[in-house]
Parts: sequence; C-alpha cells; structure tokens
Amino acid sequence: MSDGHFTVGVDIGGTKIAGGVVDDAGGVIARARADTPHRSTTPDVVENTIVSVVEQLFTQVAKEQVTAVGIGAAGFVAADRATVVFAPHLSWRDEPLQSRLVGRIGLPVTVDNDANASAWAEWRFGSARGEDRMVMVNLGTGIGGGIVLDGRVELGRFGIAGEFGHMQVVPDGLRCECGNRGCWEQYASGNALVREARSLMTAGSPMAQDLVARIGGDAAALTGPLITAAAQDGDPTACELLSDVGRWLGIGLANLAAALDPGIFVIGGGVSAAGDLLLDSAREAYRRQLPGRGYRPEARIVAAVLGNDAGVVGAADLARHREEVAATVVPSSAPEAAPGLTAEVDEGAPPRSRLWWRRRHTG
Ligand SMILES: [Zn+2]
Repeated sequence: MSDGHFTVGVDIGGTKIAGGVVDDAGGVIARARADTPHRSTTPDVVENTIVSVVEQLFTQVAKEQVTAVGIGAAGFVAADRATVVFAPHLSWRDEPLQSRLVGRIGLPVTVDNDANASAWAEWRFGSARGEDRMVMVNLGTGIGGGIVLDGRVELGRFGIAGEFGHMQVVPDGLRCECGNRGCWEQYASGNALVREARSLMTAGSPMAQDLVARIGGDAAALTGPLITAAAQDGDPTACELLSDVGRWLGIGLANLAAALDPGIFVIGGGVSAAGDLLLDSAREAYRRQLPGRGYRPEARIVAAVLGNDAGVVGAADLARHREEVAATVVPSSAPEAAPGLTAEVDEGAPPRSRLWWRRRHTG
C-alpha cells in the first residue's frame, strides 16, 4: 500500500500530454491530460500546458502530499536530467525545462526521456521485475529504447543512450527522417507495418483484399491497430505483415544482445498489442541471428504490461527515486545537491545508497 506521499509523472508525447499522481507501488490515483501544442508554438506554450496539467492534478490530490514531479519527454534529454537537447515533435532546442518549471510548480522537477521512463516502469512494476539487466524497445511510429542495469537507467555520457531505432540494419536501405538510410525503425515499427500494407494495397495485390474491405478502399485510413485487428481475425496477409515486422525486431534484438547481453527484452508501444503475432517471429529471428547461438543463454523476449501508463508511472517513480536517493546521501558526499543536481547525486551515488534503495524497493 501507499506510504502516504506521491509523485507526479507527466508524459509528453507527439499528440498528448498525460499526467498522473502515482503512489509508491506504481498505482495511478489521479489523471489529467491535454493536447500537445503544435511544434510551431513557442516553448512557453508547451510549458504552460504542462503546468496546467499538473495544476489539474492538484485539484484532485493535495499538493502537500506530492514530493516531486517527473517529466518524460520524447527527445534527447541531457545527462543533467534538466535540459531537453532536442525534441523532434516540439520547438525545444537546448530547452532548460527543469529550471523553467521548478519555480512555477514549486516542487523538485526532473526530466527524462520518455522511453527511459517506460523502461524504468516496466522494471519496477511490470514485466521486467526481478531482472537486473533489461532492455526496453517501444515500437510506436518509430522505435524508442531504454536500458536499466543494476537498478539504474543507463543514460550514456551525454544522456542519449538507448536510441536503438537509428542503428543501421540495412546498408543503403530506406531513408530515415534522422538523415541516414537503413535505420532499424524503418523496418520494425508501426510506420513500417502501415507502409508495407499500403504498398500491397496500392499495388492492387489480391493479398490486400481483406484490408481493403476493412477501410472501404481508402489507403490513407489504414492504421497499425487496424492491421493488428485483421491479423487477430485471422487475415493471413495481416499476419504476414506483423510477422515481417517481428522478424526485423528479432534481428535488431540480436544486435542489442551482442552489445548489452540483457536477461530480458521488454517490447512495448502500440505495435506490441499484437502480442505473439509479432513476438513469435521476433523470437525465431532472434535465435537465428544471435551471435554464438547455441552456445549462450538466451534473453527472454516479452510484451510490456503497463501499456499507456508506463510513461507517466516511470517518470513519477524516477522522480521519487531521485528524491529518496538524494535524501540518503550524506551531505559531505554531495554538498552542492540543489534540486537541479539531484540527478548527479543519483547517477554518481556511492554503492551504499543504491544498495539501500534496492533493499527498500526490491526487498
Ligand atoms: Zn534513422
């Protein structure tokens, strides 16, 4: 049960800003949301929207019961957990988000990448509980990724670790919006699934008959969930399209295993709703592609379980985690620990405080 104090998580996506008040067991006890302002608007407009979502939450749960606010944003977040270096869907470029929000919200604020927040949530409360080394891969319009190692999110030197979607899997392959060719997310994502289905339809292939009937012939109306629904109804073409995405997923996961050797891969994002229609072929391709296959243990590949809540829960729980770790670090080891630097206290925390936290939370 809850320890009586809460943290707020705010998940900033391409279309919506979702907020929640979260307890120490990962339960969401209040919610609020708003549309994400268009990327042409100024940073002020986005920040006003975040503040209004948080204020809506404080009408449901007393602010005195909330100890910190965590923001999860789609974009590059600097290792200081305070600055958004680049957000493709927003106007943020080197945006000092934390310092701009702290004064307005009146609580400690930390900023994370949204996929890192989701990974943390799945590790703490979802399908990766009990695993010391997990990799999360979110299949949405593109691919988001996060790594949790030994009870902490792996940020990389500059805060930008886990951008798996832009690993090259096909030399000279399809052009990606990042500027390169052959990126993983061009082959294993919701966009890839829809693109392939559309190309079958526009080619007039009889294979696409069922899909065409479902959308009245309007290729623009095709979506990932619709293809998944067709596959679940047994349409062999939709099954094949999902299986193709799964195969590319498995190939990329084998590459990640070569680099990171995790115990579990958690697959989230909209496409993961297809479950084993996607994951069976991913597992098969993974086994076939794994370096040294047959001579090494294999990581499990499982679906995420927290769904759309993962971003909110993870951002809130990371904020809680940082507050708790900061509170346990002896002052002499962190004399400068201002709110803006709690992330550094966290990431550089001596083993003692991490062990304390793990005892308390993984018990
Ligand atoms: Zn790319």
